[in-house]
Amino acid sequence: MKVAVIKESFPGERRVALVPASVKPLIKSGLEVFIEESAGVAAGFSDEQYRSEGATIVSHGDVFSADCILTVRTAAAAGEAWEADRNRLKSNQVVIGICDPLGSPEACAEAAECGIALFSLELVPRITRAQSMDVLSSQANIAGYKAVLLAASALPRILPMMTTAAGTVKPAKVLVLGAGVAGLQAIATAKRLGAQVSAYDVRPAVKEQVQSLGAKFVELDLETSSSESAGGYAKAMDEAFYTKQRELLGKVIADSDVVICTALIPGQKAPTLVTSEMVSQMKPGSVIVDMAAERGGNCEATSCGETTCVDGVTIVGPTNLPADVATHTSQLYARNITTFLMHLVDHGLPQIPSDDEICRETLVTHNGQIVHPKVRERAGLPPLEQTVQE
Ligand code: NAD
Repeated sequence: MKVAVIKESFPGERRVALVPASVKPLIKSGLEVFIEESAGVAAGFSDEQYRSEGATIVSHGDVFSADCILTVRTAAAAGEAWEADRNRLKSNQVVIGICDPLGSPEACAEAAECGIALFSLELVPRITRAQSMDVLSSQANIAGYKAVLLAASALPRILPMMTTAAGTVKPAKVLVLGAGVAGLQAIATAKRLGAQVSAYDVRPAVKEQVQSLGAKFVELDLETSSSESAGGYAKAMDEAFYTKQRELLGKVIADSDVVICTALIPGQKAPTLVTSEMVSQMKPGSVIVDMAAERGGNCEATSCGETTCVDGVTIVGPTNLPADVATHTSQLYARNITTFLMHLVDHGLPQIPSDDEICRETLVTHNGQIVHPKVRERAGLPPLEQTVQE
């Protein structure tokens, strides 16, 4: 089977789906590996490095003759490139990548029309045996680290306490909102930089994890026993809950030098945790890094993709932090996607495996149809009588 890696062309995207070190194991498993010219350059990997591991460097057009195409971004997540590339895709080709299936089901319908088998890596189930395929975790982890560095460099103070002959400097107060994968790494990074760190999450189970990193868990007088879904994610709460939450968080936020926002609800707009009024009550020079910017933001005053100054507070609204650390995020992504690919190969790829949970949960389109029940629902399509998987 021929496997090809496409060069990402989404604005600002510097990651690549395979790194040179991931080529040899695939070849050993009997696959032929093709890499589009310069695909890895922005992430720090030259064509020569891929070649010396046994890959063949090909043109953009030649990528589309492979049986399986590996991407970081495809379908709606690839932006304008999807418009241009989808006409080159062939029936029964397998495409694997991040594709925003729940946010943009229209592009999935287009993928179905092309006849491709589209696998969405965002939909990898969060079960123990799929942990090494979990791109959301691998990328969010590094993004959490990077968010703290952005905050530290925008802050007109240092993070650690420092005692010098010229006087003692107090540590900066960092508050992390949402302590999932990104939030926990943000806490650990801010601690390593010497800040005084506290964190809040709507899921009570997180308290112990926050404390084990040496941070303080902010307790709010809110009823949160039903805030976690069976999958371990936060559930959307009603507006009365969020209003009370903002009221209770106001004082903690006003007292913080840095707020790192990471709160998300799967498949929904991010909850508003910081209003413009709350921003106006923060000290001038404080910094908010809103990692939820692309999903509407946790802070009302965030401008998506921009850094702004509102009432003396710097608000950073990054949209693709993993791309800023592309060498390491590509290395981890490559491990995720190769483990996923080998899993499918072990289960019969290029035939689409029909009896495997990981395949079933990630397969978005097959045989000309959207086959994923949640994506069908988002696309306004009725459930399939029986998911067609041969
Ligand atoms: P996420 O990106 O969906 O959300 C980030 C955090 O925001 C979550 O911790 C969530 O509880 C929190 N949040 C949502 N609404 C909030 C609000 N109003 N106020 C404060 N916080 C709010 O989550 P994630 O980082 O992808 O992780 C979700 C869960 O999945 C975690 O329990 C994590 O440990 C678990 N997980 C499991 C595996 C696995 O078993 N393989 C892998 C990764 C993550």
